[in-house]
Amino acid sequence: MEKIILTGDRPTGKLHLGHYVGSLKRRVELQNSGEFDKIFVMIADAQALTDNADNPEKVRQNIIEVALDYLSVGIDPSKTTIFIQSQVPELTELAFYYMNLVTVSRVQRNPTVKTEIKMRNFEQSIPVGFFCYPVSQASDITAFRATTVPVGEDQAPMIELTREIVNRFNNVYGDTLVEPEILLPENEACQRLPGTDGKAKMSKSLGNCIYLSDSAKEVSKKVKSMYTDPLHLNVCDPGHLEGNCPFIYLDAFCKEEHFERYLPEYKNLQELKDHYTRGGLGDGTVKKFLAAVIEEELAPIRERRKEWEQNIPAVYDILKRGSEEARRVAASTLDDVRRAMRINYFDDMDLVSEQSKKYSGK
Ligand code: ATP
Ligand code: MG
Repeated sequence: MEKIILTGDRPTGKLHLGHYVGSLKRRVELQNSGEFDKIFVMIADAQALTDNADNPEKVRQNIIEVALDYLSVGIDPSKTTIFIQSQVPELTELAFYYMNLVTVSRVQRNPTVKTEIKMRNFEQSIPVGFFCYPVSQASDITAFRATTVPVGEDQAPMIELTREIVNRFNNVYGDTLVEPEILLPENEACQRLPGTDGKAKMSKSLGNCIYLSDSAKEVSKKVKSMYTDPLHLNVCDPGHLEGNCPFIYLDAFCKEEHFERYLPEYKNLQELKDHYTRGGLGDGTVKKFLAAVIEEELAPIRERRKEWEQNIPAVYDILKRGSEEARRVAASTLDDVRRAMRINYFDDMDLVSEQSKKYSGK
């Protein structure tokens, strides 16, 4: 069986460090590993509209931002198909059929959807489209016969639901769809990077992000204002690591060689943590170190972005060609699905003769 990746992002803002460690970095590694037959990366504009229906301009403006972020982190359009979800209408048709295979209570139990409904104050007035987006995600994944979905931990319930839909579909209509597997970052801190405000998740919708395109000055300012340990008032006080953003970010980003370069007084992260918990190490030192570590990662990304920004027509061209390719693949899966569901009336030569026989009594 071919090894195929499908993953994507909502064009609701520029991409941030959470996306980078949760998914983007892995995608680039997998893309360059040569282990995969095909890789599809989707800009999920239709999904973004499920909670931004009254603000299509926001979605439209952010498509290019997300595409620029992709290209600047190293997603290579000669190896990866980058496409826009709404330009592949086959996905919507698939979702419509899958909706019959899922119950309302099953979607209601989805913990990510629950959190997102609360976050958006949708409790009383949830749009049907938003409620159904996990089902639409199942069609995105299965349309490309994806075997592997590299995402952050918040997506785990979506992949689980997709697997259930695949199994239900194959049981009812015969073996047609491929069951995907989630690929989470190995490093736990990367599975759900918290926001700079200490909230559980860095998220475009919460405004607690360090963006990949932030300037060095912005990064340093955001790191300086990061949530740390509220009980660590004086340098000499013992500090706590739990929920302490700079340390969680260091868990996600820091390598031993960073100490040689930016903080040679310590050999590794454990030594730094030990000093902090013992007392005697100020948040300022930790934050300065973290800013240098992040800057090392972001500087080349920022440079590549500047180059692509000079060639916007080429970026749209990549998206257009990618969307055409994605459409071809999704259409072929949709053909299989229609055949399996026996709704391929006009391609089914047996149907006419079957019905004719019924009425002619022969
Ligand atoms: P929105 O607030 O509009 O939902 P978002 O910041 O949650 O935006 P998405 O586009 O929903 O971003 O997520 C895209 C991908 O990035 C998913 O694979 C998701 O798991 C991953 N991701 C998003 N935020 C984080 C995070 N803080 N840590 C790790 N992975 C993340
Ligand atoms: Mg999200």
